[in-house]
Amino acid sequence: MIQDKLRELEQSSSKLDPNPEKRSYLQQAAIDYANRFYESQPDQKAYQEFDESVKYLLNEPIDEKAGVEEEILQEIENVVVRPGLNTVSGRHFGYIPGGGLASSAVGDFLAAVTNRYAGVYASSPGAVVIETRLINWLCELMGYGKGSGGYLSSGGSHANLTALVTARDSAELKAVDYPKAVVYLTQQTHHCVDRALNIAGMSECHRRYIPMDEKFRMIPSELKQNIEQDYKNGLIPWVVVASAGSTDTGAIDPLDEIGDIAKESSLWYHVDAAYGGFFILTDDGKEKLKGIEKSDSVVMDPHKGLFLPYGTGALIVKDVKKLVEAHRFKANYMKDADIQSGVYSPAEISPELSKHFRGLRMWLPLKLHGVKRFRDALDEKQLLAQYLWQKMNSMDEIEVGPEPQLSIFMFRWNPGNGDSNVLNRELHKLILKEGRFFLSTTEVEGNFFFRVAILSVRTHQKEVDELLDTIQDKMSELGERFGHSNPS
Ligand SMILES: *Cc1c(COP(=O)(O)O)cnc(C)c1O
Repeated sequence: MIQDKLRELEQSSSKLDPNPEKRSYLQQAAIDYANRFYESQPDQKAYQEFDESVKYLLNEPIDEKAGVEEEILQEIENVVVRPGLNTVSGRHFGYIPGGGLASSAVGDFLAAVTNRYAGVYASSPGAVVIETRLINWLCELMGYGKGSGGYLSSGGSHANLTALVTARDSAELKAVDYPKAVVYLTQQTHHCVDRALNIAGMSECHRRYIPMDEKFRMIPSELKQNIEQDYKNGLIPWVVVASAGSTDTGAIDPLDEIGDIAKESSLWYHVDAAYGGFFILTDDGKEKLKGIEKSDSVVMDPHKGLFLPYGTGALIVKDVKKLVEAHRFKANYMKDADIQSGVYSPAEISPELSKHFRGLRMWLPLKLHGVKRFRDALDEKQLLAQYLWQKMNSMDEIEVGPEPQLSIFMFRWNPGNGDSNVLNRELHKLILKEGRFFLSTTEVEGNFFFRVAILSVRTHQKEVDELLDTIQDKMSELGERFGHSNPS
């Protein structure tokens, strides 16, 4: 009886593990699609406006029926992937670009195929050692010495959360202390830091938004004053969060001076370098990030500065033991995993247990291309931003924000008459409607500004020149339509 049933079940379930022929058929179809995808990029939009039609997928049955390879891949290609932002486009200048390295996609494919258990050394020493090597490399880049460590996270938000939890435990703050604890940051600090405090159960703590200079950088003397005042008032100055490349304006806080103040005042010094961190590979970036080595923890996003696919962030901590303490646990089923070799299992120092073999998508491109290619790409992006800023700065009707510190700057159309906010909103709409380029926007003191963020591996001079042409074309189009007056 049982054996009959087993035979029957096996016949069905073994279809989950297809024979070589069937398997390579699917793989080949996927590779064909990937090649079409890469090769069509020069003609693809950077942004595809969309209606709600994709939501028909919500009603697509997930049912007993087995599907057909071509049909399903076609749905992915034509329906799922199309609407919205094309993040691998070289004409994506919005938010923080990144991603799209073909070598990284291959690494990810192999990570999924082999499915090594990357959380625990005893299960996959190879996967854990690769992650450790990558983390040690990041520590070296940031000037951290022996005893430092960290882990590859899903992204900057997750890494910032872990950093703050580690800082909290290091300061031995208990729930009763939270209403007295003070975090120092600026209005430019990424919102995920605020959110991390809430997730960590610390929504009651004080956020001191330190004033910034005209380039949106924290003013160290103001930080110092605030800390002194808070100590006087019986509060608990706890952590200062500096940005090494803020998302909105690309501003780098004075990392060196802040480091000194944090040390004098016994604060945990955290640097959010999710966007700007990898610029330390370049000579110019190294100069600009000076002082980052004074920090206690740094967040970096390889899915930005190393052009890896989303889902790749990193946290490094100067004293890795702090990370271990913040993630201590007791579990009998984990005994065998306890390894002492200077190699920490990610499961011992981060929230995840079972873990994507994330390291491979970072390790393969670095080994395959060598670091020089990445350095040159980052130098190129920085220079492109400089080049475009200078061009825009010399245009009559364009008002630019501060010179880019790395590869982000702001600009707006300001013809001198009409409501500039309305005009720029129209300009933005027009650019997105065409979709060849994608730009995101921000607001400074009630004024609408475009942001230019250059960090796509496929952005070169041609794309930047074309962007400028497009902006000028659209400006004249609107200028004609509205005669340079308020288009409302
Ligand atoms: C992108 C970014 C984050 C958030 O990181 P995710 O990887 O999107 O979660 C945090 N801080 C800064 C400065 C960023 O640029």
